[in-house]
Amino acid sequence: MMGHPDLLGAAMAVGRLGRRDAIQLQVHQDGQLRRLLAHAYQHVPYYRRLFDQHRLHPRHIRGTADLGLIPVTCKRELLEAPEQDRLAQGLDPAGLLTVRTSGCSGEPFTIRRSWLEDKVQYVLRLRAFRSMGIHSRDLVAAVGAVKPPDSADSKVVGRALNRLGYYRKQVVDGFQRPEVIAERLTALQPDVLVGLPGMLDRLTEPSLAHALRGVRPRRIIVGGEVLTPAMRSRISARFRASVLETYGSHEFPLLAFECRHSGHLHVSDGVILEVLHEGRPARLGERGEVVVTNLHAFAMPFIRYRLGDLATRGAWCMCGAPFSTVGGVHGRMVDYFPLPDGRMLHPYEIVRRLVWGPNEWIRQYQLVQERRDRIVLHLAATVPPGDDAIAAISRSVRPLLGTEVEFDVRLVGEIPLEISGKLRPSRSLVHSEYDAVTADV
Ligand SMILES: [Zn+2]
Repeated sequence: MMGHPDLLGAAMAVGRLGRRDAIQLQVHQDGQLRRLLAHAYQHVPYYRRLFDQHRLHPRHIRGTADLGLIPVTCKRELLEAPEQDRLAQGLDPAGLLTVRTSGCSGEPFTIRRSWLEDKVQYVLRLRAFRSMGIHSRDLVAAVGAVKPPDSADSKVVGRALNRLGYYRKQVVDGFQRPEVIAERLTALQPDVLVGLPGMLDRLTEPSLAHALRGVRPRRIIVGGEVLTPAMRSRISARFRASVLETYGSHEFPLLAFECRHSGHLHVSDGVILEVLHEGRPARLGERGEVVVTNLHAFAMPFIRYRLGDLATRGAWCMCGAPFSTVGGVHGRMVDYFPLPDGRMLHPYEIVRRLVWGPNEWIRQYQLVQERRDRIVLHLAATVPPGDDAIAAISRSVRPLLGTEVEFDVRLVGEIPLEISGKLRPSRSLVHSEYDAVTADV
């Protein structure tokens, strides 16, 4: 396949790496990084320009130790380049798998991957799941967003494994009422429960104790949003199972996963994750921003990409695995909106009507629940939208909210960042699970 140097070899190496030691891992990552940089310089105009501007050549980078020579790229810079400049030349975007994301940080974004790259991510995730104590015969119930039917379906391998009884997964629509989710989980009797922490936390309501008494997963795995200590203990108590955390993003499906021995987050060997404090590598235990290189993305490379998350740099894990660790990840925070009719609305219900529609002009968004009965959508645009575009958004969102809630769309030049430097795509001024954890940042 054009422009994908030895990706299959890399994928197979990934499967073996868990048993290698730290030095072998370093050698492997250095080699993979050199291949990625040579490819990006040769085939991806954005990186070619970036390197040339800084008089840098891939041969100057011998491995991860020299990574600091490469300038950091933020999402804005990448988005400002035309898409063909971000993709490897000669690849047909129509032949790639496409993820149009709501953007964890409130900036919609299209990510493209080859079929093979998607498989590599799958292998990495399976290995992380194994290390978290998930067996191949387990039934996994995933509480989350049910994706719309996708023409470029990437789950062929997953489905084939499912048919053989390996890694059986049932998706439960997390936007349903908690009682309905409880019923479904009771019927499924999953061995493992997976989900967004906010969605699972809604199942910890005292009134649901009876309905969920028969649901006894062996383990619970959460990811996609920040898990607060209070959420962790509520979820763990409700299901009488330990809760393990994963850390990922749309650009990097697996960044880190919790070690079941130490409680630290192992950094996935599919990425190089740096924590930078004022531009330099953070010291052990120091907090900084997360900058990541995806070692397995060649179709649309992400090299020293600033995610916008904050984390603390950790040491090697005490469990003996050859992975470095991160802690205190301060990533995506999604508030539920309590509505006057008693419903808890997940803001993604609104967001998915924006990003899956013809709204490519949206550069940033933020949903703010100002009062129980008033929600305002702040939008920053790349090009000024017409009145009819705004009216169409209102029309599609209003039926979700009921008659008692005002909905307003406000065009703004820029959406201000939190004190933490992060953009919170949804925030409720009525009730936020995250107020306590953000206070100290
Ligand atoms: Zn460990």
